[in-house]
Amino acid sequence: MKQTEILAVGGGPAGLTAGIYAARSGHKALVLEKSFAGGQMALTSEVENYPGFAEPVSGMLLAQAMEQQATRFGCEMLNAEATGIAQTSAGFEVSTTTSPVAAAAVIACSGVKPKLLGAPGEKELTGRGVSYCAVCDGPLFKGREVAVIGGGDSALDEAIYLSNIVSRVHVIHRRDEFRGRKFAQQRLREHGNVSYHLSCVVESFNGAQHLENLTIKNLKDSSTYALPVGGAFVYVGWLPNTGWCSHLLALDDAGNIKTDDRLRTNVPGVFAAGDVRNTPLRQVATAVGDGALAAMSAHDFLIGKR
Ligand code: NAP
Repeated sequence: MKQTEILAVGGGPAGLTAGIYAARSGHKALVLEKSFAGGQMALTSEVENYPGFAEPVSGMLLAQAMEQQATRFGCEMLNAEATGIAQTSAGFEVSTTTSPVAAAAVIACSGVKPKLLGAPGEKELTGRGVSYCAVCDGPLFKGREVAVIGGGDSALDEAIYLSNIVSRVHVIHRRDEFRGRKFAQQRLREHGNVSYHLSCVVESFNGAQHLENLTIKNLKDSSTYALPVGGAFVYVGWLPNTGWCSHLLALDDAGNIKTDDRLRTNVPGVFAAGDVRNTPLRQVATAVGDGALAAMSAHDFLIGKR
């Protein structure tokens, strides 16, 4: 079994920052990441509000730099997914898809996963036209028409990204007003190849082998129409990744891990940072701040224990 002092579960900006602060404070630190460093940030086309970069920076490049910084301080990276957590006499044992990890303190930084729209055809056509990642799949639709569903910052940012690749972006939003920030709305309006379907919802994703069209319902007059698109990018929010720890940690009504102002959970020795906790703001900047605070709280916990 692997042994560490501070284990960060999740290698997004919160987990990587926790790794940097934990290792730099002299602790044996390990970051567990199921796929690649950076989490949702790595799948973000451009991060333009993270301080220190005058020009927008690719989320993937930012993730790689954070990972290199963590490993430079001696933080270990383990490519595996957490599947459970149990309390032991020495602290905690986190089971994973590879070997279990024993840790004296654990920081839950497992982030979020995309929320599904729940319309017929969505699951069947995922990976065959329906996608939750414009950076990953957008280039597959070069020169074709696609839809973006949602009205928050993610939908607006990724619609801007896609409009530079595809021939036309259809933005479908259930209200007349966007939730996303005004700056991004303005940027999107500057692109001439964007059509808006406001107060509209997707009733179904249609196609035999691949997505061929969407059935759209206009909520104002209840009319429906077919919108032919090869790709549909769903950005209707996120769900916290807590399957591995929900039996141990207290969650709020939305399923986020409850924390106090030192990012302590209800279990002494377990902390939570980033999008997976009950945070009022989900940004790279706040995830990074959370990671630093959680690592220092874990440090204080271990010092108190010694
Ligand atoms: P979000 O803010 O929760 O927005 C989700 C959008 O999906 C909303 O417009 C919502 O409509 C719509 N929606 C939800 N359920 C739906 C349904 N069943 N059918 C149709 N539409 C539905 O999610 P997000 O845009 O992913 O942003 C998440 C957090 O990350 C936010 O705090 C955001 O500010 C942050 N973020 C920031 C940046 C940035 O600063 N660059 C980039 C990305 C994300 P309603 O508006 O009608 O509720």
